[in-house]
Amino acid sequence: MKYSPHSERAPITEIFSSLQGEGPRMGERHIFIRFEACHMACAYCDETGKKAKEMLLADILNEVTRLERKSGPHACVSLTGGEPLLYADFLKPLCVALQKRKFRILLETSGILWRQLSGVVGACDIIAMDLKLPSVTRQKEFLEEHRKFLKLAKRKETYIKVVISRNVEVCEFKQHLRMVAQVAPRTPVFLQPMSRREKVYPDPALMRLLDELQRTGAKQLSDVRVGVQLQKLMNIP
Ligand code: SF4
Repeated sequence: MKYSPHSERAPITEIFSSLQGEGPRMGERHIFIRFEACHMACAYCDETGKKAKEMLLADILNEVTRLERKSGPHACVSLTGGEPLLYADFLKPLCVALQKRKFRILLETSGILWRQLSGVVGACDIIAMDLKLPSVTRQKEFLEEHRKFLKLAKRKETYIKVVISRNVEVCEFKQHLRMVAQVAPRTPVFLQPMSRREKVYPDPALMRLLDELQRTGAKQLSDVRVGVQLQKLMNIP
């Protein structure tokens, strides 16, 4: 795990213009700023380990401005990773500078680092948080961290992504959605089939499980949907 000691620069693996591939903003054109490293090691992750370069705030803003001119207009700047909240000291001045340039900020996060979120939530417009199920990540449970995170995030436009694999237990799934129902029951929840890189949903058993979990989740919350990853269907970054 790497934490940047700087608030003036951060390790960035890529900055690019593309279509948002997930959640309620799927299909919008965004500028993506991808931060290096993550505090998690999800079994299905295909993002960590990418080579980064340290970039100054001014260099990132210049690149965002260049992309906006070349490929805009963009609906949002998406801060993604890795885990952007590892660089919370850097995020706040970055978000403020982007908002001054009239960009909306979408923070894509594991939904666990609630202390770090508390310092930057005011500077974000939209928060896309994960609910990490231990049967899928092969990590420990983060239910209480997710609860604290959602309590902070819910003052903004927030939605939740849950990656689903064939290993998911219905009781584990219901337990996590119960927490959402207690904290912020109107938050949209997207169930997303686990996939890696270019592989697109080849598993009929997983599709049946998604169907079952959507019906189960819709009894607990008002907005539970099955989501796809547009970037994998369209083979775009
Ligand atoms: S939280 Fe996201 S970036 Fe981090 S290891 Fe898990 S899938 Fe990868």
